[in-house]
Amino acid sequence: MSVNYAEGLSAYEHKGKCGLAEKFDPPDIVAEKVSKLVSMIRSSRHIVFHTGAGISTAAGIPDFRGPNGVWTLEERGEKPTFNVTFESAVPTFTHRALVAMEILGLAKYVISQNVDGLHVRSGLPRNRMSELHGNMFVEECNKCAMQYINREVVRTMGVKLTGNICIQKKSRGTCRGQLQDTVLDWEHALPDMDLDRAEKQAKAADLSICLGTSLQIVPSGNLPLITKRSGGRVVIVNLQPTKHDRKADLKICTYVDDVMRLVCQQLGVIVPEYDGPHVVLRSVHTGLGEDDLAVVVKDDTLVRKPHPTVTAVQAGCKALVERGEGTEQSRLKSEGDDKECDTKNCVENKLLVLGKAPIDARIHDTSIKTEVGNENIQAENEPEVKRKKLDKPGDCIKTDLVKDEKQSEN
Ligand SMILES: [Zn+2]
Repeated sequence: MSVNYAEGLSAYEHKGKCGLAEKFDPPDIVAEKVSKLVSMIRSSRHIVFHTGAGISTAAGIPDFRGPNGVWTLEERGEKPTFNVTFESAVPTFTHRALVAMEILGLAKYVISQNVDGLHVRSGLPRNRMSELHGNMFVEECNKCAMQYINREVVRTMGVKLTGNICIQKKSRGTCRGQLQDTVLDWEHALPDMDLDRAEKQAKAADLSICLGTSLQIVPSGNLPLITKRSGGRVVIVNLQPTKHDRKADLKICTYVDDVMRLVCQQLGVIVPEYDGPHVVLRSVHTGLGEDDLAVVVKDDTLVRKPHPTVTAVQAGCKALVERGEGTEQSRLKSEGDDKECDTKNCVENKLLVLGKAPIDARIHDTSIKTEVGNENIQAENEPEVKRKKLDKPGDCIKTDLVKDEKQSEN
């Protein structure tokens, strides 16, 4: 399917500021700012990433408000040109870096406005991300809310019936609810489960890093401010000005892939190449008491074991550990502390491989299952999905402009 999914959306007047000039920090300033970002990452314990269309432009998927964005061109009466389909688009360095950083405990959660499916297809665990505007590859049952991840793009958008039927086994037989696509149109309410989780994560974060988003769409664009209000810090990496530049602790103006490449180099994060789509439902950090999401993979070939990125990242980390670096034990030693790290099955010895990663006390709790290898476990039982009605303003997709106008009317 063509990547101009925007053509499938209904007409909408207030699309925000489009085509603002892009700014590039000179290389020495980028280097300085990246060093600052790296030290912020090292000193943070709960890092959440917010991603927008800007992280997918390098994959050939146009953004919305950039100089050649879909809405920018629309204002000029033009249409974007494409050379990829959603199925053929390859996850960018940033997508792959986030997968590696999640495995290493450096990225606790990703909140995305993108519907291109690249996060899910690159192997970012579905239970460590919120897709606030839907996913072109995902259908959802209108009866039990079970989501199905497909290999191909779903043929409808705007939350319409796809013609497929829910095959979940229920106590009284098969659900047989009707499946809908999950790609929101303007004024559609955001998915409750993903929005709730995103808000909680933004609150828990002591560092929110925004990549490739102008933060103009609410409520998604305002979520980083929750981190700020909770005493955390906000970093923005974007070429154009964003809605919240003035509130950011750091703003870097250059390509997100360039920033992520430098960050990963400095942190020693190994980022494997992409070798085809693979879907991971559960993070290696998933706790025993953590419920499965109501999400299944429709095509088993999308689920690969072992998770290729886990394998590659672990191999790189093992090399570090063998050199006596990057474990909790080596960290204690480097701090002149001779205390033994005596936690039984201390997974931290595997996951704190960078010696730089924030120490997550959770991982030291042996009651929590953190061993690698429990990914890709599909929801076997019927997860209970509570759909709550969200009708407060800001819970549906709109630009902040509209909100501002409504506020000024009051
Ligand atoms: Zn169903």
